[in-house]
Amino acid sequence: MVERTDWDVIVIGGGPAGSTTARYVAEGGMDVLVIDSRESIGSPLQCGELVPSNDEMKRLCPDVPDVDDLLQTPEHAISLRTSELHLVPPSGRPLRYPFEGLMLDRVAHDEWLVDLAKSIGVNYLTGARVESVDGESVSLRDGREFTARIIVGAGGHNDPLRRSHWDESSLKIPIKFALMDGDFGDAVELHFGSMAPGGYAWMFPKQGGANIGVGIQNKFAKGHSLNLFADEFIGRYGAEITFRGAGSLPMSGTIDCFVKDNHLLVGDAAGMVLPSNGAGITIAMIGGRIAGQTIVSHLDNGTSLHEYESEWKRQMGSVMRNSKLSFKVGSWITRLPDWMLNLAFNPLTKPFVWRFVTCRKPFIIF
Ligand SMILES: Cc1cc2nc3c(=O)[nH]c(=O)nc-3n(C[C@H](O)[C@H](O)[C@H](O)COP(=O)(O)OP(=O)(O)OC[C@H]3O[C@@H](n4cnc5c(N)ncnc54)[C@H](O)[C@@H]3O)c2cc1C
Repeated sequence: MVERTDWDVIVIGGGPAGSTTARYVAEGGMDVLVIDSRESIGSPLQCGELVPSNDEMKRLCPDVPDVDDLLQTPEHAISLRTSELHLVPPSGRPLRYPFEGLMLDRVAHDEWLVDLAKSIGVNYLTGARVESVDGESVSLRDGREFTARIIVGAGGHNDPLRRSHWDESSLKIPIKFALMDGDFGDAVELHFGSMAPGGYAWMFPKQGGANIGVGIQNKFAKGHSLNLFADEFIGRYGAEITFRGAGSLPMSGTIDCFVKDNHLLVGDAAGMVLPSNGAGITIAMIGGRIAGQTIVSHLDNGTSLHEYESEWKRQMGSVMRNSKLSFKVGSWITRLPDWMLNLAFNPLTKPFVWRFVTCRKPFIIF
């Protein structure tokens, strides 16, 4: 039970972005309360559960410092380590790439982030939905009121602070996925083509099963529903489904500004998802660390909160720019007829396709 009502910092949402922000705020000696509407943060699962290994992250995001301090994924939250990624056109003949990935038990992962933050002194109020934010006040749906000098919106793609104080809109891709039992090997698969118009489908193997899903852009789906695409793709694998889930992923990249007065946005709320591959967990944590550290400097010695935006651009600006460009080009390419896509995925284009997916400049001359 949280009795105290006045805090240095309140964070809305205790997912990867919120718990990481709070962890670094508490490390800096500030009093921080995380408020989350879920009783148990991380449940129910809404994720494909794939993250790059720390070494892969260092290659993908070379300007991000101290990756090993930020991402300390514990063994019990890792279901499987993968060593290959297959990009699969409609023909089913994949382009194969080496890729060190971690298939998470995402629920255990997010619970662990909460435990880590708590061990540093972060306070949590769960089962409490934030209704509105006004200046330094946070109002809950049940009528309770809290105040803080800084308020962080880390409530995901539907964050209440983003909804009420920012007018910029983001493209959101609806997603359906399922967990299946069985043996699915150890290569991560991303599928492109008419099975997922404007988006992609995935098969991510886990220990004793797989996480399989589809995300589409409705405007390219010719009136067909996501359910149809999901049933068709997931049905291909013909194994027993143990869980079904759905969600929505912001795919426009980061919004223009993350800071307004004493309010900050982080994670999905700020669009911190790489649109070319849907990676959001580790990217939200990168944003969370920068936000948390900037808040501490601000409260300690008056550093402008806008330093958070500048530091984000230093660490992630070029990766995000390239990813947005790749997504735009990719949205166009993946609308080509399947036979053309089959031709486009060939040994000659293999290195370029990889540069798109991994958020590098597609062509060296750009
Ligand atoms: C189906 C799906 C599959 C995905 N697969 C992958 C993947 O394989 N790999 C990857 O890296 N990323 C994946 N992502 C993206 C990733 O899940 C997100 O980018 C990541 O969770 C962002 O973290 P966050 O903390 O910003 O938001 P979230 O994890 O969404 O956390 C937001 C928290 O805020 C709380 N909240 C929301 N509103 C309120 C409110 N009003 N009051 C109080 N609390 C509130 C929620 O309960 C939640 O706990 C996937 C997303 C979806 C939807």
